[in-house]
Amino acid sequence: MSEQLIYLNGEFVCKENAKISVYDHGFLYGDGIFEGIRAYNGNIFRLEEHIERLYESALSILLQIPHTPAEMCQLVVETVRRNNLRDAYIRLVVSRGTGNLGLDPRSCPTPSVIIIAEQLSLFPRELYETGLRIITVPTRRNTPDALNPKIKSLNYLNNILVRMEAAQAGVSEALMLNREGYVAEGSGDNVFLVKKGILYTPPAYIGALQGITRQVIIEIAQQLGYVVKEEPFTRHDVYVADEVFLTGTAAEVISVIEVDGRRIKDGKPGQVTGQLLQEFRQRVEKEGVTID
Ligand code: PMP
Repeated sequence: MSEQLIYLNGEFVCKENAKISVYDHGFLYGDGIFEGIRAYNGNIFRLEEHIERLYESALSILLQIPHTPAEMCQLVVETVRRNNLRDAYIRLVVSRGTGNLGLDPRSCPTPSVIIIAEQLSLFPRELYETGLRIITVPTRRNTPDALNPKIKSLNYLNNILVRMEAAQAGVSEALMLNREGYVAEGSGDNVFLVKKGILYTPPAYIGALQGITRQVIIEIAQQLGYVVKEEPFTRHDVYVADEVFLTGTAAEVISVIEVDGRRIKDGKPGQVTGQLLQEFRQRVEKEGVTID
């Protein structure tokens, strides 16, 4: 296996040398943004959408990315290519860059740009067959009027607290509710329910990241003839659903078989979820920006 190469501020460096300053405001304050992207079979899935979301996050936090979106796409492709990967999880990070100890980003003249590509399966492979046991947690999703969940910022403490609560309860993922008690999303994934053949996922105003996998699943479901409703739902709706599943670039599509100790139907991955997963897998193999 050849050495892993990381793109760091204009050059490709080996992992051991991929270092940034302790004065980088991404490190000091979580001041920055990121994307998680996947390549399947030499094709980078929905690359343009990820880059578009990155630039929207940048605009929102007044961060000037020192590349055009087209250049950024090329850098992602090049990182995967240089690492001889066909299947990869790609992490693209743009932080405010190196400054002084003050909060003011004006001390940071140049953003840091980092691209890492490696192999990753978020959950152990067998959980994709058996489904996940999850919980809902007391930590609420941060609100759109504070730090908008649509911004994929480096400030992931909200999500990390959720993941820790899940781990303490002995499960691998958890759902956050918003302040009104409606289900928002998982710590790193969006949530769907299936009830009487209809799919439900929380609408944007509930406060969740607008997941690219979520959008792909909506498209696939509609093409397969399912009705998809973007409607608020509560914990009760989750408990009584026929099927529950999570979506995300890292998580992909994964069934949930138990929530807060309530078994979802017969406690096995559902048939609609299976159908969507199969279609998703076929699609990711074929679509995307080729690295060849
Ligand atoms: N919600 C959160 C909080 C996430 O971090 C992610 C992963 N990016 C998602 C949802 C899923 O989004 P996507 O399908 O674009 O990866």
